[in-house]
Amino acid sequence: MSNEKKAPNLHNVEFLRSAVKESDFPFDSLPQIVFAGKSNVGKSSVINKLLNRKNFARVSAQPGKTIHINYFTIDKQLYFVDLPGYGYARVSKAEQQRWGALMETYFAMGLLTLGIQIVDIRHKPTRDDMTMAEWFRASRRPWVIIANKLDKIKKSQIEGNIAEIRQTLLLPEEVPVIPFSAEKGMGREEVLSIIFDHVARKEE
Ligand code: GDP
Repeated sequence: MSNEKKAPNLHNVEFLRSAVKESDFPFDSLPQIVFAGKSNVGKSSVINKLLNRKNFARVSAQPGKTIHINYFTIDKQLYFVDLPGYGYARVSKAEQQRWGALMETYFAMGLLTLGIQIVDIRHKPTRDDMTMAEWFRASRRPWVIIANKLDKIKKSQIEGNIAEIRQTLLLPEEVPVIPFSAEKGMGREEVLSIIFDHVARKEE
């Protein structure tokens, strides 16, 4: 008999709650896979693509307007944790401060299993992307970069753009950058296998 647990059923997904303060966070032992990215980078689209859903994680109508952390439970085995989008141009100082305070709260609790930071493969990462990378680096937890919107660049640009992302975010060698298209599905299997791998390791 095999001890291997079956991969989580991605169809069995439920919205758990939006968290804004410490007591809102689930303090159980389920792995937490955390998604972060600039508003409009395609974070909701990436989550939807991973889950093979069309409209599960909301596709943002008002980028940057939601400063809370959304929890989704996957097959009662793990959480997808959707951090609020950042870097929206018209956001106020007060909202920026709320974003920073919420990051402080989340990262201080040490609940993170795997960080997934989404950037746009077409562009050099922004200052806000660098700040987010700093949160993940400081967490000392495993972390990967999804370079989204792959379908929007030429094949010949991929390597150079990924090198620029690595340099700008000062990525340690062990942090992979995965070219991805939430539109077309490229990169999906690779990201899922990294997620399942970390879930399995946490259960060991
Ligand atoms: P969020 O604000 O980060 O959650 O971004 P959304 O998921 O709402 O996506 C922002 C816009 O980018 C939408 O118009 C999406 O259809 C589009 N988008 C997201 N991912 C991709 C992708 O991989 N390729 C292309 N071509 N468009 C994408």
